[in-house]
Amino acid sequence: MKHTLKKGLLFFLIILLLFIARPAFFLLNTYYNDKHNTSTTRQGYINDASRLNETKVEEIPLKKDSAEMIQQIIELIKQAGKENKKISIAGARHSMGGHTLTAAGIMLNMSNLNFMKLDSTGDILTVGAGALWSQVIPFLDKQGKSVLVMQSNNSFSVGGSVSVNCHGWQVNSPPIAATVESFRLIDAKGQLLNCSRTENAALFSLALGGYGLFGVIADVNLRVTDNKMYKISSKKILSKDYRSAFDAFVGKEKNGMAYGRINVTKQNFMEEAIITKFTLIDSKTIKPLEAGSFQKLRRTVFRGSAKSDYGKKLRWSAEKFSSKIIQGKTFSRNQLQNEGVEVFENTQPGYTDILHEYFILKDNLSKFIEGTRKIIPAAKVDLLNITVRNVKADTDVYLAYANEEVFGFVMLFNQATDSLAEKEMILVTQQLIDLAINCKGKYYLPYRLHATKDQMIKAYPNAKDFFILKKNYDPQELFQNKFYQKYK
Ligand SMILES: Cc1cc2nc3c(=O)[nH]c(=O)nc-3n(C[C@H](O)[C@H](O)[C@H](O)COP(=O)(O)OP(=O)(O)OC[C@H]3O[C@@H](n4cnc5c(N)ncnc54)[C@H](O)[C@@H]3O)c2cc1C
Repeated sequence: MKHTLKKGLLFFLIILLLFIARPAFFLLNTYYNDKHNTSTTRQGYINDASRLNETKVEEIPLKKDSAEMIQQIIELIKQAGKENKKISIAGARHSMGGHTLTAAGIMLNMSNLNFMKLDSTGDILTVGAGALWSQVIPFLDKQGKSVLVMQSNNSFSVGGSVSVNCHGWQVNSPPIAATVESFRLIDAKGQLLNCSRTENAALFSLALGGYGLFGVIADVNLRVTDNKMYKISSKKILSKDYRSAFDAFVGKEKNGMAYGRINVTKQNFMEEAIITKFTLIDSKTIKPLEAGSFQKLRRTVFRGSAKSDYGKKLRWSAEKFSSKIIQGKTFSRNQLQNEGVEVFENTQPGYTDILHEYFILKDNLSKFIEGTRKIIPAAKVDLLNITVRNVKADTDVYLAYANEEVFGFVMLFNQATDSLAEKEMILVTQQLIDLAINCKGKYYLPYRLHATKDQMIKAYPNAKDFFILKKNYDPQELFQNKFYQKYK
C-alpha cells in the first residue's frame, strides 16, 4: 500500500514537472533570446516602425523653444517653396508605409514641440504636436485629468495621432477627431492658420486624418476628461457570436473601454474570443500612476508566440487564465492608457512586426471572420494577435474610415524583412482588403502601402477628391510622403 502511494506520488510529481518544465523552459529560452537595441539604420537614413522603409532624408535640427520652432518651420517652408524642395513630417514614426518620409526631402522631426497647457476650466488641453502620449498622460494625471481618445499605447505623438485620426479601446466613441476643438496649421505658403469646425473648416476636416499632406500641425486644442477609476471584467465567447456577445456584454456602456482578443492558434484559429471591458466606477480615491505590472513576463509570453504555435497556445491559455484572475480589479483611466509599445514590439534583427486593421460594419462581422479564417491559414504568414475595437461614426474627417459604426480588427503579424516574406504579405494584405471591401468595410491607411490604387479607391471613394484638394491647397506638392507618392 505504502509502495503504491509512493509510486503514485512520484508519477504525480513527474507529470507536474513535465507540465511546468516545458512552458518554463520555453519562456526562459524566449527571454534569453529576446534582443534589445537592434537598430541597423545607416547614418543619414531614417526608417519607420516597419523597419522596411530606410530612406535618405535631410533632417534639420529644430529649435527647442516652441515659438521659435514654429517660426523656424515657417521660414523652412518658405525656403523649401523657393528651392522646390519637398517636406515630410514625423511624429514618433510609428506609421509603416513611409508616411513620414520622402526620398531626398526634408524631414521635420516634431518632437521638440511638446509644450502642454490646461485651460482654466480643466477641459481643454493645448498641446504641441510633437508631444507623446507618454508625456501627456503624466501631465494630465497630476491635474486629475485624462485623454478622451487615443491609441491603445502611449508611444505616439499628438500630431501623428490626429493626422491618422486614431482610435483606441474607448468604447462607443468616434475616433480622436471628435475630441479636437481646434489646431494651428502651418500651410504650404508658410501661414499659421487657426482651424476649427467654424474657422478654416475645410482644412480642419482635411488635415485631421490628412497624413501630413495639408501642412504642419503645430499644436492642438484637445478636449480632455476626468481621470476616473474603472473595474475590469471579461467574458469568453465564440468569435462567430462577436456581435451579439458584444451587444449583451458591453452594449451602450458610457465612457467605458473595451476590446476583444481572438484566438490565433493553428488548431482553433479564430474560434474563441475574450471580450474585456472596463466599467466606470464611482470611486473618490484615484490610484496614482505607476509602472505597468509584469511587463517583462507579459513581453516574454507575447514574443514567445512569434514563429511558434506552442507559444501561441501558451499565450492564449495565459490570456484566458489572467482574464479570470484579474476580474473585478480596478485601474485609473490614465493607468489603462499609459503603456508603451515596448511591452510587445519586435526587436529581433531580420524580422519586423507589421500591423493591419480592417473596419467592418456591425452586420458583417461574421462574414469578415469567416473570410479571414480561410485567407490567413492558407498563407505563409505568422499572425500573432487579433484585437477588436468598437468605433462610432466619425463626422469630422474628410478621409474617414468610420462613416458609420464599425468594428476595427487589428492584426499584428511577425514578418521576415526579406523580399519573399514581403511578397507573401502583399498577397495576403490584398486578399484581406478585398474581403473588407466585400463586407462594405475599409482598411486603415497608416500601415504598409500594399493596397492597389484600385483597392484604395474602392475602400475610400472620396480619395480622388482628397488628392485634388491637396493639390488645390498645396499646388507645388511641397508636403510629400511615400503614401502620397503611391496613391496620388
Ligand atoms: C505598435 C502600434 C500600435 C498601434 N496602435 C494603434 C491603435 O491602437 N489605434 C490606432 O488608431 N492606431 C494605432 N497605430 C497606428 C498609429 O496610430 C499611427 O501610426 C500614428 O500615426 C502613430 O503616431 P506617430 O506619432 O508615430 O505618427 P507618425 O508615424 O510620425 O506620423 C503619421 C502621419 O502623421 C503625419 N504627421 C505627424 N505629425 C504631424 C504634424 N505635426 N502635422 C502634420 N502631420 C503630421 C505624418 O506626416 C504621417 O503622415 C499603431 C501603430 C503601431 C506601430
